[in-house]
Amino acid sequence: MSTIKIHDKEFTPYITDQEIQEKIQLLAQQLKKDYGNKKPLFLSILNGSFLFTADLFKYLDFEAEVCFVKLASYKGVSSTGNVITAIGLDTNLNDRHVIILEDIIDTGKTLHHFLPQLQSQQLASLKIAVLLNKKEALAYPIKVDYDCFEIPNKFVVGYGLDYDGLGRNSKDIYQLKED
Ligand code: 5GP
Ligand code: MG
Repeated sequence: MSTIKIHDKEFTPYITDQEIQEKIQLLAQQLKKDYGNKKPLFLSILNGSFLFTADLFKYLDFEAEVCFVKLASYKGVSSTGNVITAIGLDTNLNDRHVIILEDIIDTGKTLHHFLPQLQSQQLASLKIAVLLNKKEALAYPIKVDYDCFEIPNKFVVGYGLDYDGLGRNSKDIYQLKED
């Protein structure tokens, strides 16, 4: 793997496809232990989580459902203001064991603004699973229950994550190159 350029910025190889797949398989095994007989509902947050969700779902060998919600809170390389729900939730979550799937948790702002929208329904349980956890950037009271990787507070792209629309279609994850 070598450095790639997206728009005006250079990115260096950071996490390989193989490492990602191994971690997602381990997560699938853990989820089977925790949810194997609970028929959970995975709530995938678009756009960034689409590859993570697809791969994880293929590794789940027990009954599970998935649905997708679109929220947007990100422009460029730093977290911005408003969280907007573009595609609403039309699935009944009452009495369901729900697991939110996020590509990455940074400040926690996106989920902090989204979670209250679930409170009108009586979930059986709610947990959060993320591919990438920028633990040191967390600024909102969000508890991450499952993560595949803890990463430092640096901008990354690939495997579903974009830089201004591009870079999602990379099997590997890249990190913004320091100047
Ligand atoms: P938070 O609301 O936790 O600050 O940010 C969550 C969202 O910001 C993620 O779902 C993702 O869309 C975006 N985000 C945060 N950090 C990064 C990053 O390093 N790279 C990319 N491409 N998106 C990020
Ligand atoms: Mg996202």
